[in-house]
Amino acid sequence: MNFDWNTWASEQRIEFPILKEQIYGKPLVYLDNAATTQKPQCVIDAMSHYYLHDNANVHRGVHALSERSTLAYENARRVIQQFIGAKSHKEIIFVRGTTEGINLVAQSYGRLALKANDEIVLTELEHHSNIVPWQLIAEQTGAIIRVIPIHDNGALNLDIAQQLINKKTKILAVGHISNALGSINPIKKLIEWAHAVNAKVLIDGAQAIAHMPMDVQALDCDFYLFSGHKMYGPTGIGVLYAKEALLEVMPPYQGGGDMIATVSFEKTVYNQLPYKFEAGTPAIAEALGLAVATQFIQALGWEHIQAHEKSLLAYATPMVAAIPELSILGTTSEKAGIISFVLDHIHPHDIGTIVDRSGVALRVGHHCAMPLMQRLGVPATVRISLALYNTQADIDQCVAAIHDVRRFFKRVAS
Ligand code: PMP
Repeated sequence: MNFDWNTWASEQRIEFPILKEQIYGKPLVYLDNAATTQKPQCVIDAMSHYYLHDNANVHRGVHALSERSTLAYENARRVIQQFIGAKSHKEIIFVRGTTEGINLVAQSYGRLALKANDEIVLTELEHHSNIVPWQLIAEQTGAIIRVIPIHDNGALNLDIAQQLINKKTKILAVGHISNALGSINPIKKLIEWAHAVNAKVLIDGAQAIAHMPMDVQALDCDFYLFSGHKMYGPTGIGVLYAKEALLEVMPPYQGGGDMIATVSFEKTVYNQLPYKFEAGTPAIAEALGLAVATQFIQALGWEHIQAHEKSLLAYATPMVAAIPELSILGTTSEKAGIISFVLDHIHPHDIGTIVDRSGVALRVGHHCAMPLMQRLGVPATVRISLALYNTQADIDQCVAAIHDVRRFFKRVAS
């Protein structure tokens, strides 16, 4: 089908009020979607509707507002259960985001399952959020961290992965999509290898959840994490999916209200799932906003979102690659809508600062992936990351701004 995806994306932009902003008098070109996405009107409306009409604490009042609030919050859990294909709503734990979810699993499951010399397998592509929590639990238990290396194109070295995932492995923790390079990891295969040696698998889905349909049962992962703010939802909310049998045996991560059935100074009995892992007042409006974000995505249709982002990546990649003295890092064919690059003799921070004056928002830096930067031999990169509302005009304005940066530095140098 020869569909005009650019027109499709232009139509979706209307739903995102912030995209009408002008930056230094220029139209905003927002290409920092891997850091956070913008929010559609329906998400903003759902959250303000909650505060305008339903606000009360959940699970504890008998009054009308508390019942409304509890119903809406628990309904949000079921909407998200359906969105990722989980078997039960008990497997959906609301957390602050991917980072908190990985810390929860590392501390709760890790403490239960790891002993000295057990191995935790990570990859060179990981975000700090999927490295540091494992270092903390490794220090506490004496477990050892092993790292799957990458090839120069940003794909995992699967030959070495196969050797590293062995009988000593207790946990494999791997990103679904690299935030720094866009590489899509073959997680189905990795999960099969890990399960063959009785290891559990955690997938950091922070960069995948807005870009591909998710079916955690088909994938058969043990843990899957994502953040609301990277999928057109609010900040301060994310999801830990975990198989119910694991959550049943895992100890609580935090203690407090809501996570208990009974408390006495002699003994506390924990609440049932999922509440055992949700201590204290949760992010209620944010959970509702996240549920609406998933409905927004589903109403647009994955086939449309994926086809558009693929066609925009195919439009942008050769234009960016054609900029003289520019090298793209991460060139595997299995790649999401991320273009990471360096320009000879120009620091990424200078590029980011100068293109900002043209209204172009890019991410520059180590992308919370310092070990990956070290492997690539660069201190930082410039990253373009796409979302469903980006258009060819965004790419044109961004590429023109990068050409301007080069011209500026040439002038200064001559
Ligand atoms: N993992 C990956 C791959 C990410 O891109 C990010 C966010 N940049 C995180 C984890 C952490 O997500 P959050 O900050 O929302 O907890």
